[in-house]
Amino acid sequence: MQASGNAHGRLFGTNGIRGKPNELLTTDFVSSIGKAAATMFLSKRIAIGRDTRTSGAMVMSALVSGIMSTGTDAIDLGVLPTPGLQYYCLLNSLPGVMITASHNPAEYNGIKCIDIDGTELSQEKEIEIEKIHFTGKYKVSGWQSVGVALQDNTAARTYIEAVLSKVKRDVVVSAGFRVAADPACGGAYYTTPFLLRELGCSLTTINGFPDGMFTSRNPEPRPENLSALLTLMKDGSYDIGIAHDGDADRAAFVDSSGKFVEGDLILSLLIKHRSRKGDVIVTPISTSDSVDDSASEVGATVIRTKVGAPIVARTMIDGKASLGGEENGGMIFGDHQYCRDGAMTVARVLEIMAETGKSLSELLSEVKRYHMKKGSAHFSGKWESLEKFIVERSNPERVDRTDGIKIYVKDGWALVRKSGTEPIVRVYAHSRTEAGCTRIFSEFSSLVHDFRP
Ligand code: MG
Repeated sequence: MQASGNAHGRLFGTNGIRGKPNELLTTDFVSSIGKAAATMFLSKRIAIGRDTRTSGAMVMSALVSGIMSTGTDAIDLGVLPTPGLQYYCLLNSLPGVMITASHNPAEYNGIKCIDIDGTELSQEKEIEIEKIHFTGKYKVSGWQSVGVALQDNTAARTYIEAVLSKVKRDVVVSAGFRVAADPACGGAYYTTPFLLRELGCSLTTINGFPDGMFTSRNPEPRPENLSALLTLMKDGSYDIGIAHDGDADRAAFVDSSGKFVEGDLILSLLIKHRSRKGDVIVTPISTSDSVDDSASEVGATVIRTKVGAPIVARTMIDGKASLGGEENGGMIFGDHQYCRDGAMTVARVLEIMAETGKSLSELLSEVKRYHMKKGSAHFSGKWESLEKFIVERSNPERVDRTDGIKIYVKDGWALVRKSGTEPIVRVYAHSRTEAGCTRIFSEFSSLVHDFRP
């Protein structure tokens, strides 16, 4: 997971720079990235936000001084969700830097750069920042033109208002939903609870306070980390449960019976109720076929991309898409902003429930469901050899090479991908039946396991 940090390696992975404070993320390193980013952006001001991690203030200070040394003003927006910073950047046409390690455990932190349209920075611009960092060719201001340290505590409020303005607030309010929310003690601890109250929900919040140690739960919103929320909801006192990751660009949902809902199904649900004929939907090749089924039901087109939210967002812009999403619960709404947005996802799901008068489980029973299984295995060999070995042994009907190899077999498909950041390969299995899914998963996991370079 740790970026290499050497002169020949990449620093930015699929989700920015990730590492441990005082290991990769030393104050010298962070300050240098601040200088390099400000030199590349050539903007008068840069906005910076952070999640609740204990190292956030240290990383912020180092970034701010690096940025100011180039003559650029640094605006500290404080703690807020990543999409809150992105909305601020979009609204003010300003570049931004987010300090977060998203769903990674408490010991990590990270730096993600945001372009002036609120999207995650393109790879070309990230490479430009790396080059400036490694060569030390920063812009340096004279003593009389050092940047100013500014603060703006309005960004979270502006963001919530933007989300509220995009949904039929009165319809949601009149439904009077009973909601249990778990913002993970992260960036959404004081945005999502406010949003839900303003949507007329009667609310119980757990982990609704800042805790940079993530003592109560790991910030990844997976069922194994949500036992408190799942237990709270078991007695049926709530209409819906909501959970975020550390920086709240993702939302996960629990139905009224306390059952965790996979992100694919939320995307499928959004397509069914919010997309129309001719709309374009963008999703990585790893998401369920349920997405295609809902899209064809309403007459929308699906574009499949490589795995990664920035790729989905950029493909949405290029293809004028209205909706994008990933199976991990990261949804992108073209009429709001081109980045994953946890609060917007929450508002839209509640809006669909309110408009239809149906429970989440009723709504989900109307979308086509498949069985999916995911796993990973250690792999440090040559990817091309593994790919060849798997294709030869599996007798596929068709192979899609958009990202890794997606192998279509009789009763479903398998996707085998090499991780960009860790020495592992990920194996996904997908089928109409549970038995088919189990069979595909074990067949392809075994192939990876049996491979000898
Ligand atoms: Mg995240």
